[in-house]
Amino acid sequence: MIRKFEVVIVGAGPAGISAACILAENGVDTLVLERGEFPGAKNISGGVLYGNDLASILPDFEQRKAPIERNIVDSRIWYLSDQGGYSLSYKDEVFEDKRKYNVFTVGRAKFDRWFAKQAEEKGALVVSNTVVEDLHRDENGKVCGVKTDRPEGELEADVVLLADGINSPLAAKTGFRTDNEPEQVALGVKEIIELPRDLINERFNVEESDGVTIEILGSVTAGMNGVGALYTNKDSLSLVIGANVADFRESKKKPYELIEDFKKHPMVAKLIQGGTSWEYMAHWLPEGGFKHIPKLYGDGYLIAGDSGMLFNALHREGSNMAMISGKRAAETILESRRSGSYREDSLSAYVDKLWDSFVFKDLKKYKKFPEFMQKHSEIFNVLPELGGYAAREMLSVDSVPKKTKQRAIWKEIKSRIPRWKLFKLAWDAWRSVK
Ligand SMILES: Cc1cc2nc3c(=O)[nH]c(=O)nc-3n(C[C@H](O)[C@H](O)[C@H](O)COP(=O)(O)OP(=O)(O)OC[C@H]3O[C@@H](n4cnc5c(N)ncnc54)[C@H](O)[C@@H]3O)c2cc1C
Repeated sequence: MIRKFEVVIVGAGPAGISAACILAENGVDTLVLERGEFPGAKNISGGVLYGNDLASILPDFEQRKAPIERNIVDSRIWYLSDQGGYSLSYKDEVFEDKRKYNVFTVGRAKFDRWFAKQAEEKGALVVSNTVVEDLHRDENGKVCGVKTDRPEGELEADVVLLADGINSPLAAKTGFRTDNEPEQVALGVKEIIELPRDLINERFNVEESDGVTIEILGSVTAGMNGVGALYTNKDSLSLVIGANVADFRESKKKPYELIEDFKKHPMVAKLIQGGTSWEYMAHWLPEGGFKHIPKLYGDGYLIAGDSGMLFNALHREGSNMAMISGKRAAETILESRRSGSYREDSLSAYVDKLWDSFVFKDLKKYKKFPEFMQKHSEIFNVLPELGGYAAREMLSVDSVPKKTKQRAIWKEIKSRIPRWKLFKLAWDAWRSVK
């Protein structure tokens, strides 16, 4: 006999589990299928998570002992040339106190496992080691179940939520979204470097449970459109670097070379010195932005999280978009359940809910940002070099008059990048984030 569930969710990442929590606490018979050995086994992120969005699903996540590494109190941005770089830091006691757990770090293997356990406690069934290979449709074309890789692995469902992340072989098979073009995805590499807790506190100037994020832009991505990051965990650092897949293809740079070079940058090397490499991994990230979001609903199905290209590259917000889209998908399913129809016209309310939330509003606001980054490679090569040269000149106290230095800097800038291009860059930058 084929087992039937009201809702089958493909993927136990933040999107799938958020939906499962909401559905299960409302008494919906919910199954989550996860291809990994356990939830989180295959999941990678820099490790930054957002308390406000988690609390909208589990208001008592602290009491439930969410496996938080460090509460972020200091957010830094670095713009690096090969030898040095500019650094901007924002630290505020409000993040140690009133807005504690606004942003914090987690290890995804631990966090996703814990999150899935909360969904189970609410009544969802989470089954790991199971790959969803295909979707079933009824005679009217409505999705009505899934085919898994288990023997007798056919399951019926009133509605299927695809929360299967960015590398989804299912997507191409089902045709719900097109295969990702290289320009629409980045490849991120991550290394976890173990360091004694006291040394982390000392190097980053933080107390025991407080932490730092450093977002790193500039020459570290070897001229490719990308970004690096360094985040503090309790007893380790997360080092992440990634670039657009189209740029990797063109530059022939290998991802492992990129992270090895990153580790050698003088400003990075000092922070990770003496650490032991503990884990190394790579994963895709959605980079297409608003213009490449596929249709997120149809007869009997919804799409949430990375699978729907819901990722804000400028603010490195993916896990919160996943949680909130999962939550909104669950709310849509609850409404459809009350109306007794899981057809497209009923499930289309999901899109209105995403418009009501920050998810679509933010992605629309930054809709030109992916193109801007793709078009202006000078951000990753010429400008960091020029910025480094200018700072070095102005900060070297060497009896050369400042006006002479200023002239030399302008001459160098003009020889490397035409003035109109600088104005265009500034104009496009403003337009991409306005
Ligand atoms: C290097 C890197 C750094 C990042 N840093 C951050 C960060 O610091 N902060 C942040 O907010 N975001 C970050 N992100 C993005 C963030 O990880 C994602 O946006 C988020 O994980 C999306 O959640 P999701 O649930 O949609 O997908 P995922 O977390 O990818 O989960 C999808 C799940 O579906 C499972 N699955 C896939 N196909 C199938 C199938 N056919 N059958 C069964 N199961 C399946 C997968 O195993 C996986 O568990 C980063 C991403 C990368 C790659």
